[in-house]
Amino acid sequence: MAYQPNNIFARILEGEIPCEKVYEDDYALAFRDINPKAPVHVLVIPKGEYTTLDEFAGAAPAELMAGFFRAFAEVVALLGIAESGYRTIVNTGRDGGQEVAHLHFHVLAGRPIGRMVGRE
Ligand code: AMP
Repeated sequence: MAYQPNNIFARILEGEIPCEKVYEDDYALAFRDINPKAPVHVLVIPKGEYTTLDEFAGAAPAELMAGFFRAFAEVVALLGIAESGYRTIVNTGRDGGQEVAHLHFHVLAGRPIGRMVGRE
């Protein structure tokens, strides 16, 4: 999927649109989802122009990939959810229900998250 440079998360990365920041470093930004589906609902995004997880996994430089996942670990630690647990979701493309065309990892926590796959 071609990257669309004007997507809303690209604009958040550029500082054009505000976000409720949880964590940021050279590789990633984490911020609260504007429409939370759980008491904790954070989005973790890489600082790179990738639309999907397969594009990121297949093409991102190793330093960015490692940095992104280290940042993910920092976010989980900061949120204090490692013990209680969490659900990570990466929606991809049409059938995956992806709305924003910049790779993002949803982190949902703070209550039992329920069944794995919804039907709606
Ligand atoms: P997805 O369907 O996986 O693409 O999810 C996109 C997510 O981005 C949804 O959960 C939205 O609530 C969230 N979202 C959209 N705009 C913003 C924004 N400006 N700040 C924070 N979260 C947003």
